[in-house]
Amino acid sequence: MIRTALLSLALGLAGPALADTPVAIAIHGGAGTIERSKLDEATEAAIRAELAAALDAGHAILDEGGTAQAAVIAAVTRLEDSPYFNAGKGAVFTADGRNELDASIMLGKGQRAGAVAGLTRVKNPILLAEAVMQRSPHVMMIGAGAEAFAKEVGIAFVDPSHFRTEGRWQQYLDWKARQGQPRAQAPKDRYFGTVGAVALDRQGELAAATSTGGMTGKRYGRVGDAPIIGAGTWADEGCAVSATGWGEFFIRLAVAHDICARVRYGKAGVEAAAEEVVMRRVPELGGDGGVIALDAKGQVSLPFNTRGMYRGAIDGKGRRTIAIYDDEGGADAAQP
Ligand code: ASP
Repeated sequence: MIRTALLSLALGLAGPALADTPVAIAIHGGAGTIERSKLDEATEAAIRAELAAALDAGHAILDEGGTAQAAVIAAVTRLEDSPYFNAGKGAVFTADGRNELDASIMLGKGQRAGAVAGLTRVKNPILLAEAVMQRSPHVMMIGAGAEAFAKEVGIAFVDPSHFRTEGRWQQYLDWKARQGQPRAQAPKDRYFGTVGAVALDRQGELAAATSTGGMTGKRYGRVGDAPIIGAGTWADEGCAVSATGWGEFFIRLAVAHDICARVRYGKAGVEAAAEEVVMRRVPELGGDGGVIALDAKGQVSLPFNTRGMYRGAIDGKGRRTIAIYDDEGGADAAQP
């Protein structure tokens, strides 16, 4: 009996399914000034394929009765390993020309959470965030300490050069060349590609996970919203959110928590709640970005106030979407 339970845990299998409970998943690969003119056809096709693979990896786990936790981990690790997104391989560069990675995970059940920031050598930061949640008494660990803990628990390390891609290096050099020029600081061009996932399993449990390299040219020690529980990531019994955008604003507005608090206390639908925060509150303060949000009925909302957001979803009714631009099938929900 105990053996079966342990085996199920290892496979991320949930217990007996609740009748009629739908499964659902949404993912993002970042929001920003994503325009058709900036993406060639082959790159766009490759990005859509990567989004689809991550979405399907997570959904297959849910379909087979696996947990929301296992589903978001599968989707996010896949996106971290892809060079197209700003998380793990393909992370943006700091002002000093380094990669510093942040990630977090939260489970609706028991509101358990784990977060890491300022990593330079951990291959999949989301796996370390999960280990902090499951194998330490803490919620958040940073920098050298977090990497010492990673060693203790056997998390995979890579040489920092693993994260570097030529495209991100060029972005960094462009950013550097613009320093000192008027409007050099326009942060709206400085992020793309943070990744995240939210999922609902057969048990009715929700989970959210987010992973990022932050913003190009960020100063030493800067931490954005992605690893801040309540800002870039939140899950409770009724709602899960992962965010992407100009992190400082998402922290100041506690975006992910605010959306779920509106669902919980204000009785708003997840779509109305996410729209209100992303389309009104964030831009009112001067920020921009987007979120993926999911409720316990399997309703998905994918609002963003930028030109595009890499995104995908399979909602509780099985409706699937993969999209990039703001004119594709609406930003609010999974399309049939
Ligand atoms: N939110 C991330 C940060 O501020 C950046 C992004 O979403 O691309 O670190």
